[in-house]
Amino acid sequence: MKVPFFDLVEQHQSLRGEIKTAVGRVLDSQYFVLGKNVDALEKAIATETGTKFAVGLASGSDALYLALWAAGVGPGDEVITTPFTFFATAGAISRLGARPVFADIDPRTFNLDPSRISSRITSRTKAIVPVHLFGLCADMDAIRGLAKKHGLVVIEDAAQAFGATIDGHSAGSLGKMGCFSFYPTKNLGGGGDGGMLVTSSAAWAEKVRLMRDHGSRVKYRHEFVGINSRLDELQAAILLVKLKYIGQWNAKRKKIAARYSRALKGLPLETPYVPEGYGHVFHLYSVLTEKREALSRFLAKEGIGSAVYYPLPLHLQPCYRKLGYRAGDLPVSEKTSKKILALPLFPELSKAGRNRVITALRAFFKK
Ligand SMILES: *Cc1c(COP(=O)(O)O)cnc(C)c1O
Repeated sequence: MKVPFFDLVEQHQSLRGEIKTAVGRVLDSQYFVLGKNVDALEKAIATETGTKFAVGLASGSDALYLALWAAGVGPGDEVITTPFTFFATAGAISRLGARPVFADIDPRTFNLDPSRISSRITSRTKAIVPVHLFGLCADMDAIRGLAKKHGLVVIEDAAQAFGATIDGHSAGSLGKMGCFSFYPTKNLGGGGDGGMLVTSSAAWAEKVRLMRDHGSRVKYRHEFVGINSRLDELQAAILLVKLKYIGQWNAKRKKIAARYSRALKGLPLETPYVPEGYGHVFHLYSVLTEKREALSRFLAKEGIGSAVYYPLPLHLQPCYRKLGYRAGDLPVSEKTSKKILALPLFPELSKAGRNRVITALRAFFKK
């Protein structure tokens, strides 16, 4: 029995009829961009996340870019973020001509370590972008405290964390603006690229709404130079179907993660840590082991998928050589990138599949 690292086909089987109907309606209407499906999705996601406004965009990367732009980040500014994330987080900062400033992570949560942020704040710092990595929120209390003290804007990269919470408050509502991605493999994924920005600030929501459509409020009248980052109706229609199930899917992810963690206790590896009061949605289930390479080879031989998120921290990426970081500068991120391995986890993963993974891990460490 093979266990894939990830699989979307089974989920689609169960939604086939509903999605076909939703997509069929959009095709019949021949209305494809920023229509009533996008409107409905924006309202639903604002409600779901406990924010006042949501703006549908072309991708999660654009959500980050437009959030930073709306916050006034530009050339010469600095933005503090984590080096242990998908590239888009830092890419958005760079695209605005600003400088990503990396602070190291907490070794247990893999998220920005607030105690490493203060020393990175300068007179040029404009914002902090915490990432809720793998579906676990960053320490937002501490980060908001620092931001308030220094007059900085907090923009959440919640691309991996739809449905994650701290004390019942949703990811996306914990900073001034929150950014989601609907890339197909995310917990709430569409049938292609898509993203959304949420905020409770009417002014920022309005700004981003204009930015996504070439600075235009009234057709062919442009108040400033924006971009094209609109969400299309087909994506919104698919996402509206999937949104109904996200709660139950996230609950399944949580359940599988809990089973893994219980079963793997006693093995020489570290299972994911969930701080008190945090609702983790396990976009990924990553363990730490000194034997990462051997383990992933062993699993592959057993027909079990696994993957490394992320093998090279952003401060050591070739494109950021000019920022002047060197190996050893952010040791926790660097060490984590060498020890981390994500195991198969998706809502439809069967009990048999999960048990295969557990058995294989036990066999590997017994050798
Ligand atoms: C996926 C992802 C993004 C980018 O989202 P896209 O929709 O692919 O542009 C940004 N940040 C993180 C942490 C992500 O995982």
